[in-house]
Amino acid sequence: MEILAYADRAVDLVNTDLPGTGDDRLCSEQDVLRLLPSTWTISRAAAESGLRELRAVRPRLRHVFEQAAAGQERDAVLAVNRLLGDFPASLSISDHDDDGWHMHLADADTGPACRYVTGAALGLAYTIAERGPRRLGVCDAGRCRAVFVDTTTNASRRYCSDRCATRANVAAYRARKRAAVS
Ligand SMILES: [Zn+2]
Ligand SMILES: [Zn+2]
Repeated sequence: MEILAYADRAVDLVNTDLPGTGDDRLCSEQDVLRLLPSTWTISRAAAESGLRELRAVRPRLRHVFEQAAAGQERDAVLAVNRLLGDFPASLSISDHDDDGWHMHLADADTGPACRYVTGAALGLAYTIAERGPRRLGVCDAGRCRAVFVDTTTNASRRYCSDRCATRANVAAYRARKRAAVS
């Protein structure tokens, strides 16, 4: 897995809670299992403590996206550096389960939440260092506030999804029409 792609873990975790919708999709051990990579085998106790830990770190990850999207680059970087400090990578190479040689970013015995967030923090750090903080975005459509990593060639993405882009375009069209009539 390419290290930049680990930033998707941060996106997936933050987007389990969208402000304004009242819809929180990280409330049970089932939700934890849905979020974590399907290849991970997790005990019930680990899922339980994982739920607490993931919910606790979620606002810190959102903060990175909010600051980056607002042009507060230094604040975004500071927040990432704190995450890197709290979830330090412990690199090793493994070929368990006939998987071929691949990198592990954290010790398996640190627990699933810690492993997950270690990857997320590294992904954000690499995204900022290699592509710039402006690649971390927050959806502009209404009250959506979902976060995303902008991988467009000209860094022009404003919405989390096609659905939000369409919704925003329709709203803008109606506003223009109203303005033209009055
Ligand atoms: Zn592995
Ligand atoms: Zn959106």
